[in-house]
Amino acid sequence: MLEPSTAVQYVKGIGPRIAEILAAKGIHTVDDLLHYLPFRYEDRVNPRGISELRAGEMATVIAEVRTSGLFRTRRMPIFQMTAGQGRSRLRCIWFNATYLKDKFQPGQMIALYGKVEDNKGELELRQPQFEIIGEGEEEAEQKVAQSLEIGRIVPIYESAGQGRLTSRWFRRVIHGALENLTLELPEAIPAVVRKRLDLVRPREALHRVHWPDEGESMQNLQAFRTPAHIRMIFEELFFIELGLELKRREQKAQTGVAFQLGDQVRQAIKRILPFHPTNAQKRALKEIAGDMEKPSPMRRLLQGDVGSGKTLVAFEAAIIAIENGHQVALMAPTEILAQQHYFSARRILEPSGYRIVLLTGSLEDDRKREVRRHIAQGNAQLVIGTHALIEQRVEFAKLGLVIVDEQHRFGVLQRFKLMKKQDAGGATGVSPVGNGTDHVGTGVLTRPAERSSAIFGDQSEARRARLDRTGEGTRPHVGSGSAEPDVLVMTATPIPRTLALTLYGELDISVLDEMPPGRTPIVTRRVGDERTDEVWQFVRKQVGAGHQAYVVYPVIEENEESELKAAMKMYRELSKKVFPDFQVAVLHGRMQPDLKEQVMRLFQQGKIQILVSTTVIEVGVDVPNAAVMVIEHAERFGLAQLHQLRGRIGRGAAKSFCILMTGGKVSEEGERRLDAMVRTNDGFQIAELDLELRGPGEFFGTRQAGLPSFQVANIIRDRDLLEIAKREAAAVLSGPNSEISQPEIARALRQMRMKWQKTYGLVEVG
Ligand code: ADP
Ligand code: MG
Repeated sequence: MLEPSTAVQYVKGIGPRIAEILAAKGIHTVDDLLHYLPFRYEDRVNPRGISELRAGEMATVIAEVRTSGLFRTRRMPIFQMTAGQGRSRLRCIWFNATYLKDKFQPGQMIALYGKVEDNKGELELRQPQFEIIGEGEEEAEQKVAQSLEIGRIVPIYESAGQGRLTSRWFRRVIHGALENLTLELPEAIPAVVRKRLDLVRPREALHRVHWPDEGESMQNLQAFRTPAHIRMIFEELFFIELGLELKRREQKAQTGVAFQLGDQVRQAIKRILPFHPTNAQKRALKEIAGDMEKPSPMRRLLQGDVGSGKTLVAFEAAIIAIENGHQVALMAPTEILAQQHYFSARRILEPSGYRIVLLTGSLEDDRKREVRRHIAQGNAQLVIGTHALIEQRVEFAKLGLVIVDEQHRFGVLQRFKLMKKQDAGGATGVSPVGNGTDHVGTGVLTRPAERSSAIFGDQSEARRARLDRTGEGTRPHVGSGSAEPDVLVMTATPIPRTLALTLYGELDISVLDEMPPGRTPIVTRRVGDERTDEVWQFVRKQVGAGHQAYVVYPVIEENEESELKAAMKMYRELSKKVFPDFQVAVLHGRMQPDLKEQVMRLFQQGKIQILVSTTVIEVGVDVPNAAVMVIEHAERFGLAQLHQLRGRIGRGAAKSFCILMTGGKVSEEGERRLDAMVRTNDGFQIAELDLELRGPGEFFGTRQAGLPSFQVANIIRDRDLLEIAKREAAAVLSGPNSEISQPEIARALRQMRMKWQKTYGLVEVG
């Protein structure tokens, strides 16, 4: 008997080699295998007579093999087989199918399924699926009844291992696994919930989802809306929502820092900020400030399209925390972004005397240690870095606020890791550790002044002296040393609000739905690469007029040697031949970090006029004077990526131009992407089209949106069930008067922990 937790390798038909292929698909246990659902179904219930067939239809035919043989045409070998029923005959052909050479014997009964085609007046089946079901008629009937392929609604699975594990293979193995599955399948969904929603039992759900009854509605099957599907999808979403709900409750119960928003803080914000905030920014800040004032820790998502001005809002929040004597951590997904935030933080915040450090993975070890000491001692007030900040142990003297930028680059895993580390208290990761004792180094202590000048760059002694007088680092603590820091997460991914509420359930949401003033819409044009010269002339004119330009080359995998070579070649040509009189520089992911930093800085300062770059500039880079972007081979980029790239221009007052160059033939989907880019600048519209083109799997995959990846659920298709799951999860946890018994809650929570641990590698949740 197989238990759900049994390793998949013990299922009949699976050895260590196949187990490896399955592992790559995320299938490790029997339970995983049984959650590998068909992506569609074929109705092969009623076999047809050959004489009733019509061109264009899908049909199942059971017939006898008459003749078969391999023909070599000039282009490819074709295998042909003629099947018969009495006097009727039907030709079946398979292309490139030498492997079928000795497959069939005359007189065998065979079941065929495929599309009926009209070949010059004669009907034939092309590339049908088939199964040899026996030698004589009688035996055939028996076999049909047992067959997994014919005479029933047949599940179709995605193949695995580059086609080595076919749909047929999955049918067999999953069928076998179900036959041998233990009779005791625990029911973890509480009985009231199950009754209220009329959910089928787990075992029945598994059977019916793989092997639907003959009478099952094909339409419901294809829509994943049979009772069996609903049960399985609901179950998955229910436990996710249960986890989120628990997290939410836990957070409410925690003590955070109650920041004070006195006049001093307001004055500081007013004094420091370079612009009048937009109404949307004002609203977001009000919500954030409201959270920060409260004693429970803030968990807020700030959502806004590229260029909507999230950074400014983040800095405002940072000012509140720093003015209250707390430290702030600002984390960016890439080193370049971290550096950029560091530059703008220094530009905007340092004049007020705030002490800012940059902590990235590429710092020399010595310097890293030094920076960390400053953080641990509370000297550093704003710490900017990549997620090296969360992955390594960084101890803060008094961390009050964590800002995570461009959340869509962080997987859900990191999101929870971050929170977990805070949950775990002083011992690990980003955590408040009381006061300014030295937690990092021992022994070699330099004098604070020396350390400061090394770290705080060009900050003047006088300013530091002023700071020391005001006693920034040593101010009495607001809140206790063990308080949870506030967390602000920022994303440009336009997730529909209801969805965000349900999935980022533990976060509150603010939206920036308004662009800063003075933007002129970006003009986007598509140009074939035969007009390259014209494009460069245009760039020349723009740069001549004082603007800066990006030329983006599609090196999507930075470790693709050949792509990088092409980008470098293009850079040399542009700098030597096309624009020898301008400052042209190159930026790619494999450059040394300090070189990258230097290039970015020079570009920011306007000393570089044309920046040839790979997609490393995709996220967040902000140089308002850059008004032109030429994207080479634009057809190779995804829509969301194109939109992100284009978001780097149109940030200043000057009219900006985005030129999408295409070379060679563009696929139909590519055309639609380029078309959308030319038509609209609106991130939500683009996201919607992207969804349509790529399907939710891609767009909302863990990679893009930082959302959890599901086994059976699909958050677009299953939004309705997600809502229900959220409601039911809240009901289950609603205290002692709930209709659900304690043992049931305990069982549900156990199940939830198992799922969460498996999905996110977390034990602590709940
Ligand atoms: P994103 O939301 O993509 O992170 P940024 O925070 O980088 O956007 O802001 C985009 C640009 O708009 C920056 O150059 C920033 O200085 C500018 N900006 C932000 N807020 C305002 C404002 N209220 N008025 C004018 N410009 C602003
Ligand atoms: Mg940004």
